[in-house]
Amino acid sequence: MAIFLVIPAAGAGTRLKSPGPKALVPILGHSILSWTLDAFAAVSFERVVIAAPPERLPEFERLFRGKAAVVAGGPTRSASVRRGYQALGAAPEDLVCIHDAARPMITASEIESVLSAARAGGAATAATPIVDTVKRVEGERIVATIEREGLYAAGTPQAFRADLLGRAFETGREATDEAGLLELLGVSVTAVPVSRWNLKITTPEDLELAEALLRRRGKGPAG
Ligand code: C5P
Repeated sequence: MAIFLVIPAAGAGTRLKSPGPKALVPILGHSILSWTLDAFAAVSFERVVIAAPPERLPEFERLFRGKAAVVAGGPTRSASVRRGYQALGAAPEDLVCIHDAARPMITASEIESVLSAARAGGAATAATPIVDTVKRVEGERIVATIEREGLYAAGTPQAFRADLLGRAFETGREATDEAGLLELLGVSVTAVPVSRWNLKITTPEDLELAEALLRRRGKGPAG
């Protein structure tokens, strides 16, 4: 059983107020995507495919040559993941791991935990317990308080047996993540708790946080 990796990296970075693709925004002298690839370097993959913004393909190919194959991403994250998956050439019993380029703080041991849960059960996702009290708001009015007990925020990595993921894509249904697509098929997905450090870089504040965390881990500026 081989393990494959898809990294959706075709996001625009609008909320980050970045002029170029979010995956290329630098932290301590390296792009977000370089840090993410570094985190995965400890694990051996049969093939790594990055889904890049279509208009930036040559640049991504040049930057990540030797580390990953690059394909054109789609208009949504899920379309980008599908395009990456189609380029893998995975056999039904192989494992496909999916990880957002925008989550560079993931650790090797967390990746291993998600992969081993997927090996055991066929489908797994990283998840973080919700610490806030969650409210549903309409306009400015709170209309409901959602019981926090048992609530998790799903993140990535997510990992699935390739046949299950392929079947989920074939349904043509939409979900906000691939775990959600498999749930729609009735597949049971294991939630693997990971640290809240596995933040998804979305806003300028996240960028500051990620930089501070990388410094604390002893990762200096590019020299
Ligand atoms: O936009 P958001 O931060 O939720 O995106 C999560 C991941 O999906 C990011 O790594 C982003 O680059 C990627 N993405 C993509 N294709 C899109 C939109 C987002 O690959 N069309």
